[in-house]
Amino acid sequence: MNTPYRAVAQTRRREMKARMGLAGFIALTAWMIAPSVWPAVWLIAVSVGQAVDWLAFRPFLNSDRERPGAGAIAAACLACVLNSTVYSSISIYLWGAGETGMVFGSVLIAGALLHVTLHLNSVRSILLASVAPHALYFLGLPVGRAILTDTPQDYLIAIGCLLYMTHLLVAVRQSAATTKALQQANAVATEERNRAEIANAAKSDFLAVVSHEIRTPMNAVMAAATLLDRSRLKPEQREQVGMLKDAGEVLVGLLNDVLDFSKIEAGKMQIEPTSTDVRDKLKGLKSLWEPKADANGVAIRLNLPSDFPARLRIDALRLQQILFNLLSNAVKFTQEGEVTVRAEWIADGSALRIQVSDTGCGIPDDRLPHIFDSFEQVDAGVTRRYGGTGLGLAISKRLAELMGGALTVASEIGVGTTFELTLPSQAEERVEAAEQQAQIEADLSGLSILAVDDHPVNRKIVAMLLEPFGCRLSFAEDGAEAVALARDVPFDIILMDMQMPVMDGISATRAIRREGLNRETPVVALTANAMDVHRQAWLAVGVESFLTKPIDPAALVSTLEQASLSVAAPSLPPLPLALQA
Ligand code: ADP
Repeated sequence: MNTPYRAVAQTRRREMKARMGLAGFIALTAWMIAPSVWPAVWLIAVSVGQAVDWLAFRPFLNSDRERPGAGAIAAACLACVLNSTVYSSISIYLWGAGETGMVFGSVLIAGALLHVTLHLNSVRSILLASVAPHALYFLGLPVGRAILTDTPQDYLIAIGCLLYMTHLLVAVRQSAATTKALQQANAVATEERNRAEIANAAKSDFLAVVSHEIRTPMNAVMAAATLLDRSRLKPEQREQVGMLKDAGEVLVGLLNDVLDFSKIEAGKMQIEPTSTDVRDKLKGLKSLWEPKADANGVAIRLNLPSDFPARLRIDALRLQQILFNLLSNAVKFTQEGEVTVRAEWIADGSALRIQVSDTGCGIPDDRLPHIFDSFEQVDAGVTRRYGGTGLGLAISKRLAELMGGALTVASEIGVGTTFELTLPSQAEERVEAAEQQAQIEADLSGLSILAVDDHPVNRKIVAMLLEPFGCRLSFAEDGAEAVALARDVPFDIILMDMQMPVMDGISATRAIRREGLNRETPVVALTANAMDVHRQAWLAVGVESFLTKPIDPAALVSTLEQASLSVAAPSLPPLPLALQA
């Protein structure tokens, strides 16, 4: 923050060149009015004064102190007195050179007075030190002359100068009051902003807790679906598992939406385009919503032209989020008829256009302009009947805009509604092998892993996911238990949950890093908290890497593999029987 002293010093530094240029002009004019050596002597004196000024104000430029030392302030005030005294002294010379010189001399002091009162008013002592010498010249010369000559004209000039000074004083007081009011308003605004930031941090914490609570059961659902998918299944069972996984992913996505909404609000949302099979995503969404639409006797039609590109470069998660919202609404508000999803690739403009139309109840004209506002719902009864928050369309529109596109709506009461999503994208015919579903393969056999989680379901999932790889697993139910174990038993990797009773994951990691056999063991933070603030806290205690719940099996395995690379030969001490998985 800029302090008043620093602001004054910056102004003086900034205007030094202009002051010197003006002094040169004044010296030349004074010489033309009355040629002699004095204007040149005056100019040299002004230059010396400016050098003193430069030195006197220099300490303020790099200081954050609201009130610098008394010595520095006194030096700056003295420099101002010196400069004003020297600068206005040219008026004595001009007043002795006839009427032209008098007018020019008075005008230049009046200008100097105005200049210092406007620029230096944030520090009263410096203002007074600068104004006083100018004011003495400005009043002293005409009043002295009037007393000496005793003529009405000179008295009039003296009275005029007095009036000018009075007006200037009033203006200075006014300006000081305005500056003070401005400073107070700034202080209030800063305080309000701080309060808003604290409230926002509290909101982030609240969201983190909520996300933790919902993600834990989701973790179980997703892991179970993944394991089921790996088992021997009939084709229709595989399709059902696929639906389960898709729905789970969308639910996790929705959960993230709440976090995302605050991210969008804070301008921190990142868009990450990847090579995506949009047709596949559309088919997945169709099968996800079909059962619900069927129950109402409503059909969902997917209209995909044959020339639609196999892959598009687009942020798949955000695209799914938007379409999920649109389809969810279309199914929710359509009691008969059909819902149509029409996808189109506009080769000219390299854009993807998707229309979601329904033959539902429609949206009244007067509500249409507000439909994308947050927490906007046409009919409060709808919330009771169907649920919903009124956030879906607000997020969708903002996401579309963040992706460089647009989301628009057209609707007619009783006829239906059409949402049109347009997103810029690049077509990619090549199917990237790396992005295809790969079998998870890794060499984790013999790795001794301590998994710390208070939730029995989560411990079970870790066991189910890692046992097939030949890992040797030990479990702890809270941070304190993990610390006690890590003191005596060497592990190759520690998987650490964040929120646990007795001792949380961060405190436990800190304690493990402090003493015992596992001070150097890589710790992988296995947490339901995707919030960035928590990542900072984890990093501060020295975790190796992060895994967000619900656990993605491939990510778990590759993270463990990475972490194991930093471990020497896996240690194989006997494990306490009670802790064997
Ligand atoms: P939510 O569905 O969670 O209430 P949205 O932001 O998705 O929130 O939708 C806001 C409101 O817009 C809905 O409550 C509904 O009144 C209206 N709306 C959205 N889509 C449709 C649609 N396809 N047909 C009729 N009304 C709709």
